[in-house]
Amino acid sequence: MSGDLNTIRLSATDRGVRVAVTFLRKGGLVAFPTETVYGLGADARDERAVAGIYRAKGRPSHNPVIVHVASLEAAARLIDLPPEGVRLAKAFWPGPLTLVAPVRAESGIADICRAGALTLAVRVPAAPLALSLLQAFDGPVAAPSANLSGKISPTSADHVMEEMHGRLEGVLDGGVCGVGLESTIVGFDEAGKPRILRPGGVTREQLEQVVGPVSAGPVTDDIAPSAPGQLSSHYAPGARLRLNAERPELGEAWLGFGEEPERSSAIAINLSAAASVEEAASNLFGHLRHLDALLEHSGTIAVAAIPERGIGCAINDRLRRAAAPR
Ligand code: AMP
Ligand code: MG
Repeated sequence: MSGDLNTIRLSATDRGVRVAVTFLRKGGLVAFPTETVYGLGADARDERAVAGIYRAKGRPSHNPVIVHVASLEAAARLIDLPPEGVRLAKAFWPGPLTLVAPVRAESGIADICRAGALTLAVRVPAAPLALSLLQAFDGPVAAPSANLSGKISPTSADHVMEEMHGRLEGVLDGGVCGVGLESTIVGFDEAGKPRILRPGGVTREQLEQVVGPVSAGPVTDDIAPSAPGQLSSHYAPGARLRLNAERPELGEAWLGFGEEPERSSAIAINLSAAASVEEAASNLFGHLRHLDALLEHSGTIAVAAIPERGIGCAINDRLRRAAAPR
């Protein structure tokens, strides 16, 4: 299905934000830029509107969505954060950190956002345009990434337009996302100890500076829905990926990092010639889309090894899932 709405591009102005709010108020879908990736937003209190997100993305109904709000105070009205959650929120909000905690009875959030879980995922994004939208809307906005389910996340309004045109009311165009990878998702065990459910924009080292040792990996109790790490194939281009490659084989495209191999490919692009993991993160999804289009969504992209440090851990998580069997 490709939708039949006339998706409009909204400028990063007060007027653009006002139009976006109008769409959200009437239960429509609006994509907006955050510092991580573009989100596909809907009023999180409106069951029908959020159901529209699942439809537009082709997202499985068991995969819950993140709810975005403008402040820690607004978040505290939705979820019961344990003390370490409050410390993390104070340290990293607004920013690329999502906190998963028990939903409050009076949250007003549509059940569909939780996909059956007793917990809700909440984030305060840092991108000024996202915050302007949330403040002007003055309510919680459910927003997963604005791409078809299982595909590469969008880091520009053009990406959203190319893939989602006709399936949503509008796209607020705020240019290219700075971080370029999704938020780090942190949940809490029964004792309130934090656990990384998905690596992302805030590194484990940064979290540990605030709350001490943090464990990682998806939760296993059966209240938790499909935790992020459990969807193995994700972020998938049409082309296959070959990871930790030293150089491209004949006919392969090349996605480099740092120094280029002596023999490269006619179809090659570098995530960061300066070997910066931050720069590589912000380029990852755009470069994957670019190479995939040049290969006409088939063939193989050989990818250089990315150091497992800082946000490099989140890059490798995305690459492993992009390379996973489909
Ligand atoms: P995205 O669709 O890219 O925005 O990713 C959102 C991620 O948040 C998904 O992988 C979800 O599984 C995860 N998520 C959302 N709500 C919860 C929750 N209540 N518990 C655990 N993970 C969640
Ligand atoms: Mg996504």
